[in-house]
Amino acid sequence: MALKFYNFLTRKKENFKSLRPKQVGFYACGPTVYDYAHIGNLRTYIFEDILKRTLEYNGYKVNHIVNITDVEDKIIRESQKTGKSIADFVKPYEKAFFEDLKKLNIEKAQKYPKATRHIKEMIKIIEALLKKGLAYESDGSIYFDISKFSAKGGSASVGKYGKLSGLKSRELKAGARVDVDEYDKASAEDFVLWKAPKESNLPTWSASFGAGRPGWHIECSAMSMKYLGETFDIHAGAVDLLFPHHENEIAQSEGATGKPFVKYFIEGEHLSVNGEKMSKSLGNIFNLHDLEAKKFDPLALRYLALTAHYRSKLNFTWESLQSAQNALSNLRDLIVNLKNQPRSDVLIHDNQKIVNRFKKKFLGRINNDMEMPAVVALLWEVVKSEKLSPKTKYDLIIDFDKVFGLNLGKIEVKKIPVKVLQLAKEREKYRQAKNFAKSDILRKKIESLGWLIDDSSSGPKIKKK
Ligand code: AMP
Ligand code: ZN
Repeated sequence: MALKFYNFLTRKKENFKSLRPKQVGFYACGPTVYDYAHIGNLRTYIFEDILKRTLEYNGYKVNHIVNITDVEDKIIRESQKTGKSIADFVKPYEKAFFEDLKKLNIEKAQKYPKATRHIKEMIKIIEALLKKGLAYESDGSIYFDISKFSAKGGSASVGKYGKLSGLKSRELKAGARVDVDEYDKASAEDFVLWKAPKESNLPTWSASFGAGRPGWHIECSAMSMKYLGETFDIHAGAVDLLFPHHENEIAQSEGATGKPFVKYFIEGEHLSVNGEKMSKSLGNIFNLHDLEAKKFDPLALRYLALTAHYRSKLNFTWESLQSAQNALSNLRDLIVNLKNQPRSDVLIHDNQKIVNRFKKKFLGRINNDMEMPAVVALLWEVVKSEKLSPKTKYDLIIDFDKVFGLNLGKIEVKKIPVKVLQLAKEREKYRQAKNFAKSDILRKKIESLGWLIDDSSSGPKIKKK
């Protein structure tokens, strides 16, 4: 079944075709470690994990690279406030980032390169751009020349500024420059690649074009191309990165190499609160610790993220998180019950056609640009189905969980004692023979041992009291 993703470069759903057979190079913009991640950031990391798992489910080997931005305007500003070195300042936030990923059952990337360890690679790209006349110096800083890049390029695949974010809607300010990493989204200006130090205590590195430090955008170009090659398959982030960050990454990379940078840009929508993007500057953030302090399981956030399509906004409320937590608890209880059903007592003979239909639907939905809400609905169809044996149901759920990542295969199950199993078997014989008096006595006996029997349409089920 064809795998399709919505590609922001073409603004269309496209069939996915990797550059190398069954291998995918996947770069995701990682955290700027000047604070703890908020659950909006985490929604994006969950979406990227689902994307990776979808590729893996389809048999691809994914080379997943996530950068750590450990030098940039905000980090410098905040570290200076505390009087700490940048390395000491970012350490706790970096540690917390990895802890959050673990709690959310996000698969580990192949590498987490740090910007400060890739300055050499950034310098090389800037040198190439200077050599090609696509960058220039002003006041000791180096800027990318947007008009030259667009004039030189122009082909659909390489060298056209604005092809990702749609420049038409923005004003191209010829000759205007911008020094800051994040800037006015209404206009496109020459952006800074390398910043001359304005104060003596700022971190600087030497380069052939003068001492300074990198701009934010060049960091991702350098780290992605180093580990994935000059052209790679997938680049992801949230939609706020489309402009200027990803647009500038394309310009720098394609300007320097003359090759297409990325085949598919796949970007997730935001988590919002009261309709507004969750962001530190608006002061409407929660992080995972806030959720845990209210006794929520971090995986409830993951479940909540699955209930919205990644390209739709998800408005966060505590009520929706509670519903997600309830659904997850129900699912876990169910798994325990399914696991506890004695295999020999299975009364249902699975109809392979039905099993295959579920599998086909699952693949069809994940492969259609990751329709996760529809896949969650399918999961509950499986759960409620009366046409599947407990074992088959369990196996299907665990198979789906390869993409959900809810850790459903790791739920601790209290084994049903042999004595209870024997009593249940005996009781079932009496019940089948319509000797309800005897079967009730045995039911009571089972209850006194701490277990319950539920006579469902698919046979008796044993549950912990
Ligand atoms: P940052 O640490 O600010 O560089 O952001 C890390 C990731 O989170 C980036 O991919 C951002 O685009 C993404 N992000 C930031 N705010 C939100 C939000 N409210 N909802 C979803 N993703 C976000
Ligand atoms: Zn980036």
